[in-house]
Amino acid sequence: MPEGKPAGVRCLHLDENYGCQLFGKPERPLLCEQFQAEASVCGENRQQAIKLINALEQATES
Ligand code: SF4
Repeated sequence: MPEGKPAGVRCLHLDENYGCQLFGKPERPLLCEQFQAEASVCGENRQQAIKLINALEQATES
């Protein structure tokens, strides 16, 4: 996404199975490449991850 991915917006590179279409490719953003999943952010499943990330976004919005 040329101007970055806004919070709450689905990435254009996410496929229908929630896989990254850029995984392993040089054009994958460095931030995505370096991200390390951890339970405090990702929980144990997609539903928990969405709740945790929404809470983080609300806590840090300006
Ligand atoms: S890893 Fe990055 S590029 Fe890939 S789908 Fe997620 S946000 Fe998009």
